[in-house]
Amino acid sequence: MAQAKLTDRFGRTVNYVRLSVTDRCDFRCVYCMAEEMTFLPRQQVLTLEEIARVARTFVSLGTEKIRLTGGEPLVRKDILELVKEIGSFGLRDFAMTTNGSQLPTMAQDLRKAGLKRLNISLDSLDAEKFHRITRTGRLSQVLDGIDAAKEAGFEGIKLNAVVMKGGNDEEVPDLVEFARKKKIDITFIEEMPLGEISDHDRGQVLCTSDEVRDIISQHHELIPTPEDSGGPARYFRMPDSNTRVGFISPHSHNFCSTCNRVRVTVEGRLLLCLGNEHSMDLRHVLRSHPETDDQLREAIIGAMDLKPERHHFSTEGDVQILRFMNMTGG
Ligand code: SAM
Repeated sequence: MAQAKLTDRFGRTVNYVRLSVTDRCDFRCVYCMAEEMTFLPRQQVLTLEEIARVARTFVSLGTEKIRLTGGEPLVRKDILELVKEIGSFGLRDFAMTTNGSQLPTMAQDLRKAGLKRLNISLDSLDAEKFHRITRTGRLSQVLDGIDAAKEAGFEGIKLNAVVMKGGNDEEVPDLVEFARKKKIDITFIEEMPLGEISDHDRGQVLCTSDEVRDIISQHHELIPTPEDSGGPARYFRMPDSNTRVGFISPHSHNFCSTCNRVRVTVEGRLLLCLGNEHSMDLRHVLRSHPETDDQLREAIIGAMDLKPERHHFSTEGDVQILRFMNMTGG
């Protein structure tokens, strides 16, 4: 039988799913969350079994890559059970985005459970600034987490840094040196207008990928590569290192025409686009049909018709999407 495929109205194949496993987080990054957050009541959150059903159904529809995210995925109780279950599906790629705080104790188990790649968020190498940006995070814990991940032997480790003008933009060269020293990749992300924050005006602090690239080019030649990680980043190499430098540029280089992914929030809402509200409630389908995944499958196939052609993020600093990134699944 031919492998089933999910295709949208614009001919794009959807084979990458990002599953948010919790809205909770031990950090409160200034661009991601409000300082005082109200988290979801338990009954609104998918159980790990329900998340596994969603994952299995997507795989039966041709999904080749799953990323677990949140919130902070490693603060979800029994997360290793879910990782083991999804790890047994034989996916081409199975990854997680994490703030790294729990990696010192969990990296080995995650690797053994079948997780292949890790994205670790790191916006600053200065302990005080790191604490200011994350509001609650300890840099040393995350650095230990990066070392633990390296020792655990993941197929790929990548750092993610959101760059803010006047916030951490002067650290861009140091972050690149750090990635080179650790022999891992690094991606710089433009801040997106998701959720209302009070820390800064997003329009004013936006540091575009071109600006970040110019900063790095003063230190290293950046050679464009046609490499595609199956995600939205564009990659560059340096002549004297295996470290790749990526840019995720939702404002300045729209990546919608090749979008191959959808997200499922921890409430079971299937989001067809990061920058639009188009969505479908899978939790209702899951809970109305606990015995079979047939209706879930039909719902997912039907939802592909809702996937919009593109997002339109503005740089005016206004909030366009009320969902915070921790709800969306970053
Ligand atoms: N807790 C995990 C972490 O810190 O990586 C996973 C979830 S977090 C929401 C995923 C990624 O989204 C992080 O790299 C974070 O920096 C990024 N992020 C959060 N809010 C963002 C925003 N408004 N614009 C751009 N990136 C954002």
